[in-house]
Amino acid sequence: MKVTSAEFVKSAFERSHWPRDSRPEIAFLGRSNVGKSSLLNSLLQRKALARTSNTPGRTQSINYFLVNGAIPTSGARTGHPQTKSSGPGFYFVDLPGYGFAKVSKTMRADWGKMAEEYLSDRDELALCIQLVDSRHKPSQLDLQLHEWLLFNEKDHIVVATKSDKLSSNELSKQVRLIQNDMPGSRVISYSSETGKGRDAVWSEIAEALSKRS
Ligand code: GDP
Repeated sequence: MKVTSAEFVKSAFERSHWPRDSRPEIAFLGRSNVGKSSLLNSLLQRKALARTSNTPGRTQSINYFLVNGAIPTSGARTGHPQTKSSGPGFYFVDLPGYGFAKVSKTMRADWGKMAEEYLSDRDELALCIQLVDSRHKPSQLDLQLHEWLLFNEKDHIVVATKSDKLSSNELSKQVRLIQNDMPGSRVISYSSETGKGRDAVWSEIAEALSKRS
C-alpha cells in the first residue's frame, strides 16, 4: 500500500475521546519496549511520527494516527477546500504497552482498563497486530492477550519484531517457536531497521480493510 499521508490525530484517555467518523482501525498491541513505535514509523515510513523511547510504560493513552485520510486544507487561490490526499483513509491505533507494572496480577490491572475496553467494544476495529520480540519466548502476558484475541474472535496477526538481531537460522527457529505458542495466528517477522516484513504486514492490513469496505 502506498502511504500518501500520515498524521498524529489525538491521544484518547477515555472512551468519549475515540473518533466518531467510522473509519476502520488497525490496532497495535505489545509489551513496552517490544518495538511498537518503531514498527509504526517503519510502516508509515516516517522517522518519528510515533515516539520511540526507552522509558517503558510511560504512555498510557490510546494514540490515533490517520493514514491516507482526506485532510481539508483551505484553498488559498480557489477559495474551495482542497485535500492533501483522496479517500477516507483509516486509523493506526497505538495501544499502551503492557507488562510494565510487574506487581500487578491481571491483564486489566497490568495494562489498563481502557485498552481492554477498546478491544472489547470498538466496532471499527478491523485488525489487531500483536507484537512479540522475535528473540524471546512469548511472555505470559503475550500469551494471555493472544488467547483473549482468539477467544473473542478478533482478526489478528502476530508480528515478531527486531528480526535483524538474529541470524536467519535463529530467526526461523524462533518464528516456529512463536507460531507453536500462538497457534491460529499468522506470524510475520519484521525489522524496523531494514524494513523486512513491511510488504507482508501491509498486505494483511489491506486485506482486513478490504473486508470492511
Ligand atoms: P516501544 O516501547 O514498543 O514503542 O518500542 P520502541 O519502538 O521504542 O523500541 C524499543 C527499542 O528497540 C528502541 O531502542 C528501538 O531502537 C529498538 N528497536 C525497535 N525495533 C527494532 C528493530 O526492528 N531492530 C532493532 N535492531 N532495534 C529495534
